[in-house]
Amino acid sequence: MAQRLAGALRPGATIGVLGGGQLGRMTAMAAAVLGYRCHIYCPDADSPASQVTSRVTQAAYDNEAALAAFAEAVDVVTFEFENIPLATAQFLARRGPVRPSPEVLRISQNRLREKDFCRQNEVPTAPYATVANLQELRAALQKLGRPAILKTAELGYDGKGQIRLDPETTPEAVWPQLAEAAATTGVILEGFVDFKMEVSVIVARDTRGARQTYVPVENKHKHHILDQTIVPARLPERVSEKAEGIARHLAEAIDLVGLLAIEMFVTTDNQVLVNELAPRPHNSGHWTLDACTTSQFEQLVRAVAGLPLGATERLADAVMQNLLGDAVETAQDALRDPRVKLHLYGKAEARPGRKMGHTTRLIPRG
Ligand code: AMP
Repeated sequence: MAQRLAGALRPGATIGVLGGGQLGRMTAMAAAVLGYRCHIYCPDADSPASQVTSRVTQAAYDNEAALAAFAEAVDVVTFEFENIPLATAQFLARRGPVRPSPEVLRISQNRLREKDFCRQNEVPTAPYATVANLQELRAALQKLGRPAILKTAELGYDGKGQIRLDPETTPEAVWPQLAEAAATTGVILEGFVDFKMEVSVIVARDTRGARQTYVPVENKHKHHILDQTIVPARLPERVSEKAEGIARHLAEAIDLVGLLAIEMFVTTDNQVLVNELAPRPHNSGHWTLDACTTSQFEQLVRAVAGLPLGATERLADAVMQNLLGDAVETAQDALRDPRVKLHLYGKAEARPGRKMGHTTRLIPRG
């Protein structure tokens, strides 16, 4: 008689997702294909993810009664963004499996821990120093030179909480803006990387330790927000292999179960430096929905549900275009090209810079 796959969640089981944004929405849609339910936990009403699932808890991340009931109602917990409080993940991990683990979250929530982790595992990053006060900022600037970038260690994203120090910027002028962050979560100074390209690699690792990477992709930002992803990154083969190797190595070192997206800089002399880690589906992996055997969202579901990973091979080249703010109003125009796939996230209010959807243009491989 055929045996069930050992350790896998049975069809009909429930995956709890912390966060209700578009990443949760696309994860819930992939989970449904595999016969799983998702239960979304999110403080907001009518979140993009809650629109596609019937089970939703709308509560604050520190509401212990709501969290305990959520833990009871689900078979495994994952998260769709890394700024949920660490205590929330730890609370849930005492009641059932949380994948990736709270330890992965702890490292990736903080730029200093992230960089220290890379350094401990012999993975190169931009040069950096922690900065606790103005004197330390002056000393770090001496060491790292200018330009340099001062960043809050936590809660900064899309360029928020960052200040560039050019030769004419005085430390005294910028320090007050980050002094409070320095006293609470910490601040780091990074040497400026003269990069020729920003790339990212998404790696998946399952409960048995098997790994799969997606091809490195090239990311173009506008005003610090991802604008376009070009697949594959236009890099020499050996540089792409180096980037994938780093991703596999970090997934192993961090004992990942789930997805890890790694943003990297490629310098003019083809060094690959890690910038940031995100232990969840990533905007630069949206193209995988339309151009890969297994999308990043299905891969996350497989990993956290104890299923084997799917193939990550690329069936077409692609360009993913984010639709920010009121770009959503003309989004349907893109469908005049039959090779364009449109994904909208169901957000009611198109605030400037808000990610409303994306398109993926497929380019058949020659
Ligand atoms: P982050 O929030 O760290 O992803 O930074 C946002 C953007 O700022 C990156 O995508 C880069 O374009 C730029 N940036 C961040 N850190 C550095 C650095 N050390 N050197 C040069 N550019 C950087």
